[in-house]
Amino acid sequence: MKCKVGIGEINMICLGIESTAHTFGVGIVNEKGKILANVMDSYKPPKGWGMKPIDVAEHHKKVKEDVLKKALKEAKLKMDDIDVITFSQGPGLPPCLRVGMDFARDLARKHRKPLIGANHCIAHIEIGRLFSKARDPVTLFVSGGNTQILSYMEGRYRCFGETMDISIGNALDKLGRELDLDFPGGPKIEKLAKKGKYIELPYVVKGMDLSFSGLVTEAAKRFRSGQKIEDVCFSFQEIAFAMLTEVTERALAHVKRNEVILTGGVAANLRFRKMLETMCRERRAKFYTCPIELSGDNGAMIAWLGVLMKKAGYKTEKEIDIKPRQRTDEVEVTWL
Ligand code: AMP
Ligand code: MG
Repeated sequence: MKCKVGIGEINMICLGIESTAHTFGVGIVNEKGKILANVMDSYKPPKGWGMKPIDVAEHHKKVKEDVLKKALKEAKLKMDDIDVITFSQGPGLPPCLRVGMDFARDLARKHRKPLIGANHCIAHIEIGRLFSKARDPVTLFVSGGNTQILSYMEGRYRCFGETMDISIGNALDKLGRELDLDFPGGPKIEKLAKKGKYIELPYVVKGMDLSFSGLVTEAAKRFRSGQKIEDVCFSFQEIAFAMLTEVTERALAHVKRNEVILTGGVAANLRFRKMLETMCRERRAKFYTCPIELSGDNGAMIAWLGVLMKKAGYKTEKEIDIKPRQRTDEVEVTWL
């Protein structure tokens, strides 16, 4: 199983560590994109609470060794068989990112492996491309921490639209708290929405950007003043997902693309998929989703981006550090 790393070598094996937010994950991927292991452990806040970054970081510290052990066992490998270690460098919650980086750095030193810092959002795009076989898509990345509409142009993944305040996943979880639902709110809201009727709520798209916080406030207000929970959930979904579909459609037209990849935890929502599918069909564009276990935060996507970066000749930065506010378009894409 042991092999050398270099451009053109086959069978490079990369271990990826994800720790930007609630999930601590370790994935192991080979150079051909075969996922050998993908193990995760996610922090769940107490009912009615949001996530305190310090508590999440403590969770990650507690589970990291166990998650690594399980990943190696699942892949039937030892640390010796790993050629490259990659960690999620940003964007994300600083205390959580630090746990991932320190763990990756210690492993890299102890086992004498090269270390790569990878951008979390780009990892979502690349794992989506790997599994969809889309060539040059518009990626709609919708998660607990991010909401972005991205496409490759002139050496970088450019952001063609994004949220101006909270992410769609965070909006669903916040509304879930207001409706007294368990965390995460997204799946429970989806279930309740199936029996709901439409009520009007604010639809906020400004240019190519979106805003969800006013929508959460208004939906919560309606619930408190007696509107049925099912109606609030249905209408929230219809409006938020229509906003995202509108901006994705305009991005497709603007960059003249005909493929869409939906990824991130919110991609699990079937109503959202349906809306995007309809829009794509009407535009004669192809619509792709990522397998669910690779849509949310996970270590395998970080490992896969590590493979791409290493093959493109990535050199470890001298003073490698976390990049909590790193923007997707700051990263030079050297592997395309
Ligand atoms: P991530 O940060 O990519 O791991 O995604 C987590 C987010 O996905 C959370 O905000 C969840 O509420 C959301 N989510 C998970 N499943 C669903 C679903 N079926 N519908 C809507 N949102 C969901
Ligand atoms: Mg994510």
